[in-house]
Amino acid sequence: MAKIKKGFILSLSVASALMLAAGCSNSTSGSGGGSGEPTVGATIYKYDDNFMSYVRRAMETSAKGKAKLLLNDSQNDQAKQMEQIDTVIAKGAKSLAINLVDPKAASTVIDKAKPKNLPVIFFNKEPDASVMKSYDKAYYVGTTSSEAGVIQGKMIAKLWNANKDKWDKNKDGKIQYVLLKGEPGHPDAEARTKFVVDTLKEQGVDVEELAMDTAMWDATKATEKMDAWLAKYSDKIEFVIANNDGMALGAISSLEKAGYFSGDKVMPVVGVDAIPEALEMIEKGKMVGTILNDAKNQGAATVQLAANAANGKEVTDGTDWKLDDMHSVRVPYVEVTKDNIQVGKDAYK
Ligand code: BGC
Ligand code: CA
Repeated sequence: MAKIKKGFILSLSVASALMLAAGCSNSTSGSGGGSGEPTVGATIYKYDDNFMSYVRRAMETSAKGKAKLLLNDSQNDQAKQMEQIDTVIAKGAKSLAINLVDPKAASTVIDKAKPKNLPVIFFNKEPDASVMKSYDKAYYVGTTSSEAGVIQGKMIAKLWNANKDKWDKNKDGKIQYVLLKGEPGHPDAEARTKFVVDTLKEQGVDVEELAMDTAMWDATKATEKMDAWLAKYSDKIEFVIANNDGMALGAISSLEKAGYFSGDKVMPVVGVDAIPEALEMIEKGKMVGTILNDAKNQGAATVQLAANAANGKEVTDGTDWKLDDMHSVRVPYVEVTKDNIQVGKDAYK
């Protein structure tokens, strides 16, 4: 009996190991793909990213009737992504839609695509300009990274000036802030971090950085950071600035544990993305604002360009998108506070 049981457990674990291995080498999921529709090979740097999960959904919706989308979870592993690209090319992809793991890997992707004359639409992680210029069939769909920082800075300045009485805890006229940064080297993280602070200064707001560190766009990591900062600075912190909503939500969990958002323990928190979970926090008064990063339109534009490219058409054919001189479609950011929360809700519907 014991023997049988052991054998059973063993074979189960062998089976699950096999399944895991299969899942690793082939995590492609197909969607769309009526007859005559071109195959588009696509990667998301990791499915386990709040914002990218909305982009992915928009891509799947938008592929219906347009393209057979071979979508891959690169699981935050650039080597794995390269294998996935080889696989979709072998399966007959006529264009590639690539959300890089490492923004610096764009040239390696182009090295694979160029000899086959395959168009590449990079999205969300912008490659260096020099790399974009190295291939006439390389395109980018995303945003102007700095814009989120500028809008966030202006929003913070406006809110601060209106609420100084209760927010300037030590009454020195300066904002003592902590900043949760996205992934270092990610153009969005770098630009948002620089431009939010520069803009605050330009707006005439005095600032003092108590702490700044990356939480890799991730809520759990942000909770850990915020726990440590609260332990160190406690009520010296007057503002939490996050490069994205995922990290803002993580900071809020930490602040809640420390008794904030009830009684007179206030803490203004801002993010970027306007994902539904953040809009809920704005409605509950636990976040003061965010910046819409339009997942739906970026996902749709990526698929539209990739499908057109796969069909040998002008990439923006039949769309309202305009390419800039970097071959890029840049979807605008929009400030979202409780006054215009519907803007965020509509974008993520
Ligand atoms: C988003 C982040 C996301 C990142 C992924 C950014 O544009 O604001 O929420 O984690 O892209 O690359
Ligand atoms: Ca102060």
